[in-house]
Amino acid sequence: MSDTKMDSIISLTKRRGFIYQGSEVYGGLSGTWDYGPLGVQLKRNITDAWWRHFVSNRDDMYGVDAAILMNQKVWQASGHVDTFVDPLCEDTVNHRRYRTDHILKDNGIDAESMTMEEMDAAIIEHGIKSPDGNPLSPSRTFNMMFKTHVGATEDESAISYLRPETAQGIFTNYKNVVDAFYPNIPFGLAQIGKAFRNEISPRDFVFRSREFEQMEIEYFVHPDRWEESFEELLASTHKFLSSLGLRSENIHELDVPEADRAHYSKKTIDIEFDYPTGKAELLGIAYRTDFDLSNIQQASGKSMEYRVKGSDEKFIPHVIEPSFGVERLMMAVLSEAYREDEVNGERRVYLHLPEELAPIKCAVSPLLKNKPELVEKARDVYRALKQKYDGAVMWDDNGNIGKRYRRQDEIGTPRCVVIDFQTLEDDTVTVRDRDTTEQVRVSVKELV
Ligand code: ATP
Repeated sequence: MSDTKMDSIISLTKRRGFIYQGSEVYGGLSGTWDYGPLGVQLKRNITDAWWRHFVSNRDDMYGVDAAILMNQKVWQASGHVDTFVDPLCEDTVNHRRYRTDHILKDNGIDAESMTMEEMDAAIIEHGIKSPDGNPLSPSRTFNMMFKTHVGATEDESAISYLRPETAQGIFTNYKNVVDAFYPNIPFGLAQIGKAFRNEISPRDFVFRSREFEQMEIEYFVHPDRWEESFEELLASTHKFLSSLGLRSENIHELDVPEADRAHYSKKTIDIEFDYPTGKAELLGIAYRTDFDLSNIQQASGKSMEYRVKGSDEKFIPHVIEPSFGVERLMMAVLSEAYREDEVNGERRVYLHLPEELAPIKCAVSPLLKNKPELVEKARDVYRALKQKYDGAVMWDDNGNIGKRYRRQDEIGTPRCVVIDFQTLEDDTVTVRDRDTTEQVRVSVKELV
């Protein structure tokens, strides 16, 4: 895989209305992306598939949707105010800023388990310069949370942050859900929503954005039984990734070594994916012990203990956290689905998306758009298919049939239906398959 493939995907997603640079008309805003009609649908299909797999199809999961703005005490108790930082260094001539570990990585040095001092030492030892060839400053820490004020005053007490993860909105609602539902342990709370990180250097398309979406689960377990839940959620994650069409040879488990894990985590598996830009983190599953609930209990003075039904046993649950990024998943799906082949001596690009994810399930065309009898019949078929596919059908009468097929191939539409003169005689239509390009005649009745 190559950068060329990445460039082709970026260009396709823009050309066909999936993903645009945020605020593009004003020159853009780095690290932000906007979704066009097809991108919105693809993203929704991915989040819906996740929700179905991890929430609706299980009996032990509960959904929540917490506010993005939270009391600043949340981020003090969670450690984000003090420790959610990245090492930042500066080009001493043009003052451009870089993440020190990224500068090292770009120079072939893995800084994952280095302290900031060790990173600075490595920069000196290897004579590493900024991308513009200038000397780099010593590093300092940079907090990635976007700070804001809530209300009309701007004093310390009004400080709030755009949430850098959805997880804390789950932890703060743990007690509410337990009081309302009293679920048997183990059980999980799931949330899908936006998260914000002031990344020093957003890059690799949507992979590292400043505003992105997470799908997270906090799964509450008995302290002695975390391992079985960890294994179950890991296996379920692999099943989910496979259902999105991601091939197992492109998925890798990284058992994160202790030195690289958050101090409270006893085990973390990062799932990495072979993106066109290289192998990188797709999602993480972390055993977080009782770190978060204990912190909340201490900071709020409210008990976070779980009482086992019908017994006196009480404990603060431990937590397994599968944490998915929607954009990274979408990038993996697009990278896996992107195909090029040759049809009738011409290069063809198509997206081999699983049916469940394809933004448009079916395109409908009259063979000729200036023949009212064909158009009228095609409209009837279109309306019937719209019902069948819950709206995910496109009317396409632009250009000749060959062009329509190419366009639908590029957006991953599994089938194109064409209404021609034979339809008016025997009520059959041509159905063309995206992957094989084969065409078969099917009766309208059978189709809808
Ligand atoms: P990285 O090391 O790549 O910065 P992370 O370990 O900080 O990621 P987590 O805090 O574990 O990421 O966040 C959970 C998930 O959220 C990640 O696996 C990823 O899918 C997604 N994610 C995190 N940061 C970003 C970002 N800046 N842009 C897009 N997705 C992100």
